[in-house]
Amino acid sequence: RPAAMAADRSRSPTTELAVAQTSAREKITRMACMGLHIFNPEWQNTHGGVPRGKQFSASFKDVTMKIYGTDEQLTFPVQTCTRVLDVKEALCSALMVDPFTLEFLEKRGCTVRKQRDTEEIARTVTVKGLVSFKPQPHKWPHPAGVIGAGYNGLKTLMIYAKSGNSDIVCFDRNAQVGGYCWITAANKTSKLQTEFGSFHVWWGQELVQENCGYPQGWSTWPHKAEILRHFQYAAEAYGILPHIRLNCNVAKLDILPDAAGSTDSMDSQYLLHVAPLDKQGEGEDLVKCSMVWSYPGSMTKNRIVDYPGEEEFGGEIRYGMGDDCPYDKLAKTNIAVLGNGAFAVENVRTCCEYGCDKVYIVTRRKNLAAPRLPCWFVHQAPVPVPGRLVLDMFKPMYDLCGFGDPWTFYAVTASTNRQHVQISQASRFGIGDVTFLAVAYGKCEYVEDTVKRVTRHTLHLNGGRKLEGVTIVLKSLGLLGDFAVDRLHRMKKMVGDFCGGDWRRGVPPHDTG
Ligand SMILES: Cc1cc2nc3c(=O)[nH]c(=O)nc-3n(C[C@H](O)[C@H](O)[C@H](O)COP(=O)(O)OP(=O)(O)OC[C@H]3O[C@@H](n4cnc5c(N)ncnc54)[C@H](O)[C@@H]3O)c2cc1C
Repeated sequence: RPAAMAADRSRSPTTELAVAQTSAREKITRMACMGLHIFNPEWQNTHGGVPRGKQFSASFKDVTMKIYGTDEQLTFPVQTCTRVLDVKEALCSALMVDPFTLEFLEKRGCTVRKQRDTEEIARTVTVKGLVSFKPQPHKWPHPAGVIGAGYNGLKTLMIYAKSGNSDIVCFDRNAQVGGYCWITAANKTSKLQTEFGSFHVWWGQELVQENCGYPQGWSTWPHKAEILRHFQYAAEAYGILPHIRLNCNVAKLDILPDAAGSTDSMDSQYLLHVAPLDKQGEGEDLVKCSMVWSYPGSMTKNRIVDYPGEEEFGGEIRYGMGDDCPYDKLAKTNIAVLGNGAFAVENVRTCCEYGCDKVYIVTRRKNLAAPRLPCWFVHQAPVPVPGRLVLDMFKPMYDLCGFGDPWTFYAVTASTNRQHVQISQASRFGIGDVTFLAVAYGKCEYVEDTVKRVTRHTLHLNGGRKLEGVTIVLKSLGLLGDFAVDRLHRMKKMVGDFCGGDWRRGVPPHDTG
């Protein structure tokens, strides 16, 4: 008896309604995923509750679509009122074909007729003009060229490899993969600052799942050598090393027009002049590419500033990039780091690691630095984190080490009730764990001023203060763009990430992730 009652209940009108609603929702979801319009009966044209004009049926039916001349077929839900043109457009955007090349054929009795675009789609349709329901890649005559085998170049090669396209070739000036940033710009104490949630070692969710997992046995903050090892490991795991030509420079790029003389058409090509750097006297190789991705790096040129009196200083004046730092002289000294970008913060850490007595950060304006946890939080967030939340997350660390109130920094423009805030800072946040500690222990002092001149072991500041007993100056005054990249591409402007708007020549300026 209870079982029978359950059976009865399962056929109750409420259950039936719920089942129908669930099924309708599933169909609507599938239609939306296919890019088909969904018609809501409430949009029916009515006047005073009376339907007017053409009436559309929003009920569902299944369409079975076959590809002419093949065995491939696809069944998908549509609404009765779904038109042929709707389905053509959805197919075209998914499969990258021209809607005007498609014909939908419907069998009626013993005849076959072509459906018009404005008709409701038939339940069984044969489509002419498609090869497959899978997108067909365009066959390019030449490989895709990648300039640079740093983080970004490697990642691009890995994405090509993962999608099954091995028609790629990459060029780099270095003798190993990893790029300028980690081979040259990082110093021997440099560590990855933003870790797993955001950076190199995590190749992106879609890539890490397969060949290249998070490396085992890493230090908490992986250092330069570990990161370079990981680049090599990842390149091997994805089988992209044979596609990379190291020790060579792409010295020139010509655009070869198509047969009709056009440089805009898909048949135009790029000719790369590739000069070997390791073989004296060997000429350039000419390599044709159908598209070119350039990742030449953006941290190669220091802003050079000379101060009056530097020749009298009597200590070390360096730029603190790469291994330019005088490591053996850092212990028990007073050091001035000029500037307050991420590399200034990085240099404070290097100086502390090597046992300096005191480090001054001499900066025109004090920048916000990020404590570790907010940094992780911001990087892992799928949507941008509100500025108010970011500053509130900074506050505990700022309070603990006497770093100031983050809401009062120059970069912050906030409403008086601190409900709305905009953070606008020329430099990205340095990740300042060591800087915070150094400030808390009095080892690091921020001096908001600029250098006027230099005398022996002394910095004279424009505000009148003198920093005495300083024997090392590290100028971290920012990085400049390298116009050699513009010249290589003969580039006048960027349109989005593309060189002069040419969608086959990407020069993505910086990774957003
Ligand atoms: C010390 C340091 C720490 C960092 N820490 C972090 C961090 O914690 N989190 C974070 O997100 N980012 C960090 N960054 C930034 C990050 O490292 C870089 O954004 C990233 O590595 C850049 O990679 P890339 O491929 O664009 O360029 P690069 O690494 O600069 O590589 C560019 C490559 O292109 C090659 N090249 C250029 N022109 C040519 C040419 N014409 N022909 C042939 N080859 C050419 C160069 O030889 C070079 O190897 C850090 C950077 C440094 C320096």
